[in-house]
Amino acid sequence: MPARESSWQKAGTGELVIGGRKIKPGETQEILLKISEFYTSNPVNIPLTVIRGHEPGPSVFLTAAIHGDELNGVEIVRSVIQELDHNKINGTLLCLPVVNRFGFLTHSRYLPDRRDLNRHFPGEPRGSSADRIAAIIFMQVVANADYGMDFHTAAVGRTNLPHLRADLSRREVRRLARAFGTEVIVDKPGSPQSLRAASVAAGVPAILYEGGETFRFQRRNIRKGIAGSYNVLAALGMLPIPPKEPKLQVIVKKTEWVRAERGGILDLIAQPGELVYEHEELAVIENPFGREVSTVVAPFTGLVLGTTTRPMVSPGDAICHLAKLDRTLATVEKHLYITASGRRRIPVDV
Ligand SMILES: [Zn+2]
Repeated sequence: MPARESSWQKAGTGELVIGGRKIKPGETQEILLKISEFYTSNPVNIPLTVIRGHEPGPSVFLTAAIHGDELNGVEIVRSVIQELDHNKINGTLLCLPVVNRFGFLTHSRYLPDRRDLNRHFPGEPRGSSADRIAAIIFMQVVANADYGMDFHTAAVGRTNLPHLRADLSRREVRRLARAFGTEVIVDKPGSPQSLRAASVAAGVPAILYEGGETFRFQRRNIRKGIAGSYNVLAALGMLPIPPKEPKLQVIVKKTEWVRAERGGILDLIAQPGELVYEHEELAVIENPFGREVSTVVAPFTGLVLGTTTRPMVSPGDAICHLAKLDRTLATVEKHLYITASGRRRIPVDV
């Protein structure tokens, strides 16, 4: 892989053409990028804002709603578009607030054929509908970028502590992830054929932000995503602001969903951001008569990354996503605060 410093010339000084439109230095352009066609033969376009600073610098993509029901990222990318322009940055921003327009319009994670667009990158121009959409986004956007940030929330029925997912074995990915500045970074390569994994494989270091839940604009998660984006742009020399570091930053490698053994009504005790010790109670499952049928305990000491948002469970349903803490436990313990209800929680800057 070539050194990133030299390859940011992708859109640095040369000609930049996306969707047939030429974007010159010192220009912002709103492009409707055609990704497919409706049954009525009309084009399916997705909004792409290209902000190209006067001065050369890296080119960075920001993508959201690749899962059409995950909306916090839509507002994060929209805010970046509103707040920045070509006079404020060096280099280029490629901003796509709504990648999966189909799912966005139909309140769905998926494409109309139930395919998950985020399992089809880098795409295939002669493949399925999802393959073709992915190929256009990959060729028009990722291929013109040096770095990338992809914004998600937990899947429907779940919520996540704001955190980053990144393949920290890659030096440049690690640099972006640490700069973004979440308290927790999950060090994993990502699902095969996800936008993130395919970008990294193609030599475009990319990170993924997870925060909150579907179908909502949650201001704290949004603010954190915007601040993280600016931190990354500052670290890349694209935005002249001092980067902000979190008080605490832990890297976790092993995460596990704790699942229900019994069906019933769920009384969830643990919340995202809390530290729980091995064998500690996470939730109680009761029957409709009010009698306890099962207690759910932590299989290991860890940090609660996410939970279900549904108050009823069947056997096997995921209740609580736990990140294992080993050597980092002492660091986390040092930073904890106790909530009004007596829970141990890490501080999350927003
Ligand atoms: Zn997602």
